[in-house]
Amino acid sequence: MGDRLARDVVVKPRLRRLATEWKPGAGGPGPSTRDGVMLALGASLAAGLFTGQLELGLTLALEPLHDPAPGLFRGNRHILWIIPVVNLAVFSLAGLVLGLAARSRRATPARGLPVVLAFLGSLTLLLTIRGLHAAAAALLAAGFAWRLGPRLAALIARRRRAAIVLTAALAVNTAGVAGLSAGREILAEWAGLAALPAPAAGAPNVLLLVLDTVRADHLSLYGYDRDTTPCLARLAREGVRFDQARSPAPWTLPSHASMFTGRWPHELSAGMQGPLDETYPTLAEALRNRGYVTGGFVANTTYCSAESGLARGFLHYEDHALTPRSLLRASALGGRVLDRAWACVPRVLSAVGLSGSPGGGKPFKDAATLNADFLDWLDDLPERPFFAFLNFFDAHHPYLLPAGEEHHFGLYPQSRDDVLTLHRWWSLDKRRLPERDRALARDAYDDCLAYLDAQLGRLFAELDRRGVLEETLVIVTADHGEHFGEHQIFGHASSLYQPEVHVPLVLAGPGVPRAESVGVPVSLRDLPATVVDLLGAPRGPSFPGHSLARFWSVATPPVDEPVLSEVDAAAKSPANGGRSPVFRGPMKAILAGQTVYVRNGDGREELYDLAADPGETHDLAALPETAATLDRMREALARILRGEP
Ligand SMILES: [Zn+2]
Repeated sequence: MGDRLARDVVVKPRLRRLATEWKPGAGGPGPSTRDGVMLALGASLAAGLFTGQLELGLTLALEPLHDPAPGLFRGNRHILWIIPVVNLAVFSLAGLVLGLAARSRRATPARGLPVVLAFLGSLTLLLTIRGLHAAAAALLAAGFAWRLGPRLAALIARRRRAAIVLTAALAVNTAGVAGLSAGREILAEWAGLAALPAPAAGAPNVLLLVLDTVRADHLSLYGYDRDTTPCLARLAREGVRFDQARSPAPWTLPSHASMFTGRWPHELSAGMQGPLDETYPTLAEALRNRGYVTGGFVANTTYCSAESGLARGFLHYEDHALTPRSLLRASALGGRVLDRAWACVPRVLSAVGLSGSPGGGKPFKDAATLNADFLDWLDDLPERPFFAFLNFFDAHHPYLLPAGEEHHFGLYPQSRDDVLTLHRWWSLDKRRLPERDRALARDAYDDCLAYLDAQLGRLFAELDRRGVLEETLVIVTADHGEHFGEHQIFGHASSLYQPEVHVPLVLAGPGVPRAESVGVPVSLRDLPATVVDLLGAPRGPSFPGHSLARFWSVATPPVDEPVLSEVDAAAKSPANGGRSPVFRGPMKAILAGQTVYVRNGDGREELYDLAADPGETHDLAALPETAATLDRMREALARILRGEP
């Protein structure tokens, strides 16, 4: 009875008074300033909840238009909780600011509040349309808010009870979806750990380090005249260096998928059209079945994140950064307005002479961060061997060093224009660029290689200090290389020439001899077969290809087979306009001995002798004396494509 009296006498009039304030042109005494702050906060939270759900729905609905790839491939599965959370944070901050501002003026925020919230809400939703310029979205949102904000508020005030019930339902739904999407992976990891079989006694750890976008011939490990990789050279002295390692594809996803399954790219689903499906077992699955704790740490979140299918078999997988800034970027308002505004701060500071840095920065996890994440994971591992895969993105365009890192070679970005050039490098028309800009990109790339190498050196030193390194089979390679003007091509995913498919490969650790090198062409698709072979005693899935241990182990018969590389489609935003060879259609190339055979999409064939012509500048395909070689190479390619040994 007392409760009901209190509700009728105290609560209802207060609600009514607050609601009256929402009506446009309403008079009345107005809420107290404290009530005003609460009103602003409450209304903002409700508006944030509504907008968050709508933005999430719109983002998922528009995804097929922005990118026809299935599901969230090339997206970020965490948006299921990030978008609602960011909206709640942004709206409640706006509400708090409005409420406090009104309080400081001893006024109520009620009159402006509906307009501001309607503006924020409609701006957020309009920004999910990627083609719409942010300024146009803001103008449209201002119009909506001015016309509809007060009316919406009046409607909510009239249907107060329904609005409260709907808000509560949305809050429960948001918390449920967010909790489920964030908690599912943690639960799966626990369950996976609990289900691991016992590992073999003395099984070594396996550490696969993939350096994204690293061409072999820019490494001092392979004789480059700049000392870009002293640490890798040191590792190679402890193991085996492969001088003719080829990536199965000149871009990230099919190359990694091939390295993980032992299959050629044409056998796999992984490509521009979609992720790696579950047809073939992966190395991580095989090692997990042997009792290994498996962990992946990737910086290339476009083509190596869990959405790409590469996470299968890993109990623990860290991909999308979950820092405050990356969370902000995952939402429309945060990514297209707030983050860009924040990114302007160093430029403004630089322009007024308050900071020596021209700005820039790396929009992904750098090697130091990746190392730290991996070492943190190692700290908490149970007493079991581990298989860890790290994908380092530091050498990928835009070739910028992390803040505070020193440059070593030639030119480096010294102005905001330089930084902009590197940021826009992929889409720039390189034919129109001055030679200085092309040299800048090349030199900046070499600096990134040296930074990456130094970080690898630190990682090896730390593993050594922990006594882990000597029990670990270390594999260092790259998923593909990078063009810097050879054949008038820049970037990757555009051809099958050496700069894109000749990659580093070093193996060191248990079962691997010291200080050896192998000059025979090998493919990265042999990695799963190699690891399983070096660990001995097959258990779980086996892999096609041939163990690389055949080059030093008498137990493995020697095999010398041509090595295939292939590319099916041009990148969505090509680095060379339409001039890349891949624009003529799907390409195949094989390397046998020192002879490279390339079959272009339009049927045109190329033949090069790498011993005499490492730059592949003299095409021998049309010469009468190479007709027999050409026939042999055609037949070899056909055999590989037919799946014959
Ligand atoms: Zn890559």
